[in-house]
Amino acid sequence: MQNLWNDNEAQSFTDDLQQRVYSSRLLGQNPDLVLHGGGNTSVKTQMANIFGELEDILYVKGSGWDLETIEAAGFAPVKLDVLQKLAALEQLTDTEMVKVQRAAMLDPYAPNPSVEAILHAIIPFKFVDHTHADAVVTVSNTPEGEQRIRDIYGSRVLVIPYVMPGFILAKKVYELTKDVDWQSLEGMILLNHGVFSFAETAKESYDRMIQLVAETEDYLQNQGAIIKSTQINLKEDLIKLATIRQQVAKVRGTAVIAQLNTSDTVAHFSNLPNVADISTRGTLTPDHVIRTKPTPIVIGENSQDSIQNYTENYQKYFSRHADDSLICLNPAPCWAVWPNHGTISFGQTIKEAQIITDITEHTFKAIQQAEMLSQWQVISEKDIFEMEYWELEQAKLRKGGSKPELQGKIALVTGAASGIGKACAEALLAKGAAVVALDINPQITELFNQSNALGLVCDASQTEAIEQAVAATIRRFGGLDIVVSNAGIFPVSEKIAEMQEDTWDKSLAVNLTGHQRLFTACLPYLSLGIDSAIVVIGSKNVPAPGPGVSAYSVAKAGLTQLSRVAALELASANIRVNVIHPNAVFDTSIWTEEVLEKRANHYGLTVEEYKTNNLLKVEVTSKDVAKLACAMAGNLFSKITGTQVPIDGGNERVI
Ligand code: ZN
Repeated sequence: MQNLWNDNEAQSFTDDLQQRVYSSRLLGQNPDLVLHGGGNTSVKTQMANIFGELEDILYVKGSGWDLETIEAAGFAPVKLDVLQKLAALEQLTDTEMVKVQRAAMLDPYAPNPSVEAILHAIIPFKFVDHTHADAVVTVSNTPEGEQRIRDIYGSRVLVIPYVMPGFILAKKVYELTKDVDWQSLEGMILLNHGVFSFAETAKESYDRMIQLVAETEDYLQNQGAIIKSTQINLKEDLIKLATIRQQVAKVRGTAVIAQLNTSDTVAHFSNLPNVADISTRGTLTPDHVIRTKPTPIVIGENSQDSIQNYTENYQKYFSRHADDSLICLNPAPCWAVWPNHGTISFGQTIKEAQIITDITEHTFKAIQQAEMLSQWQVISEKDIFEMEYWELEQAKLRKGGSKPELQGKIALVTGAASGIGKACAEALLAKGAAVVALDINPQITELFNQSNALGLVCDASQTEAIEQAVAATIRRFGGLDIVVSNAGIFPVSEKIAEMQEDTWDKSLAVNLTGHQRLFTACLPYLSLGIDSAIVVIGSKNVPAPGPGVSAYSVAKAGLTQLSRVAALELASANIRVNVIHPNAVFDTSIWTEEVLEKRANHYGLTVEEYKTNNLLKVEVTSKDVAKLACAMAGNLFSKITGTQVPIDGGNERVI
């Protein structure tokens, strides 16, 4: 546990709220203290209202903000006396609590105050810090955890038995501290949940947090509960990974990303002989259940059986604890333990999957340390259920909301560094898909380098390179649903009489054979995809060829025929294959202003006339083609295969 406080830095954060921002970020920077929106902080100060009167308020972390990146605007100003009075109430539902807290805010545009706002308000110190420190929760997640915590801290902290966060927790602390001398305390340990520290300055409260957590880390060390890293080789089975993803997506009723994790921590954990037992005893802290469900699925020999067992058990767990007012959440697992292969996080977005991966990494460490100490034992199943089905979380469910059409889908686009391919990759990303973008141009790795996109250098005429790129796609996102087969070259114009062999061969290799190789490499995974689709970029030269471009037109005609046969062959595997025939798309790198002017002059037209030389007199852009490709990959074309759609503004020869 490192203390990150820096006096020089801290000086530039001048007032109370600024100091609060500074030390909150320090807490947020350490994932062993808080993860993804976990933890919360506050400061008690005064604020002038519209009449110029000073009011006592609590600035408390707003929901939806992460401590690591929080700003002043991320804190909700709530009237302190209202919060303190609430703690004295006999009863209050959390929904009412949220309503009253909102009504007591001095700024109606601020975010909703943290559900722990009342608890912060009744702690009589200016600065209050709360984290879910791994070490402390780990020690308390053992059968004799409470005694161990008391041994470590003595009377310097108040130990609070586990109760549900929100009003119940605030009430519990209120009752337990009526006769407590707060000045004798440095903090509070909430068993199975986390740590509170408090003081009159931001620095002291932060220092106390670091000190308290460091003491438990030392304790773990002294007890020999420290994991030694060992090198373990995991097996790889990409077909089974894609199979598991498809099976989970079917239960969930929507496409998901399946993020495979093979880190050293995971390798060690997934190889433990008792992994099925220890990984299914519950979450590290109760709030994780919202992201991960109480337990992962443990993948056995037959993954379909594993998934069926999992969903049946989840429904039984729901029936055991639910009353009529609750809606059962989707029974699909959020993550999987795959013995000897790693773990898999399922998310409709990369962000969702990544959060699960981060949470589970910390959980594995905690589980193993607790087992070394004595035994991993978390709160009861009933308590976990109450957290998972907390009224505030259920209310969010009822709200629902729309999502991008291709969310959870995984797409591969070839020739994606420029022109139509680049536009397709960008459009698929905008529609929510995860995208692997291939191109022979090395710039591709820079162009598509983000969490939901992977740019790979790939020569689309080389079988081995294509196969490697497809494998990399599965490794990164867990499957494949959409292929935009676009890579192509436009050879120099040569009449058949003077055709160079090289011109002909190269065009056929890239514009035709490369696509066949791509189809063949993708098919095993597309057949395990979610509503899979291949979109082929053909050419107007297929229905309406011109002289001098036989090498190009013949390859594109062959590609069209390949696509038609593919539509016939692949329908039974539920893979759709459709072709786009673009014409005169000029916003690509080959069409410079100079080339355009030359061509326009050749036909005695202005550049504008040349660009819109079609029946509708419209210019067709690569974005227009990309929109059509997305439609073909999506729901609009869900019942269409084997079709060819020209996108050319209307062409007499094509019609
Ligand atoms: Zn908490």
